[in-house]
Amino acid sequence: MTNCIFCKIIEGSIPSAKIYEDEHALAFMDIGPVTKGHALLIPKQHRENVYELTEEEASNLFAVVPKIANALKAEFEPAGMNLLQNNGAHAGQAVFHFHLHFIPRYDETDGFQ
Ligand code: 5GP
Ligand code: ZN
Repeated sequence: MTNCIFCKIIEGSIPSAKIYEDEHALAFMDIGPVTKGHALLIPKQHRENVYELTEEEASNLFAVVPKIANALKAEFEPAGMNLLQNNGAHAGQAVFHFHLHFIPRYDETDGFQ
């Protein structure tokens, strides 16, 4: 998708702080972290939202979720972690390439509601 910022990150034409990559998926740090260590996981195939993901694509993507969560847990030592995923502008989606948020949580002052 030519106008998709996350496809450009996959291509490498927009830089990102990558933390995991395989043939199906890419994870990188969020440019506007809501807490320390906020990261995103995306499929390499452009899929706008959860409704467009095939079962196989979902399996390939979610297979690496524990690995990424554990890497962030080891690096940032949060007290907890939220996984979050928005579909549609009304649900808060701003980038229309499927992404799963990893939001490490620290204490009540960590800034995320
Ligand atoms: P959404 O609201 O669509 O669920 O979340 C989009 C996320 O993408 C936001 O947390 C935002 O900070 C992040 N984001 C938007 N543009 C970029 C970018 O160019 N690079 C990175 N690393 N993150 C981005
Ligand atoms: Zn895309």
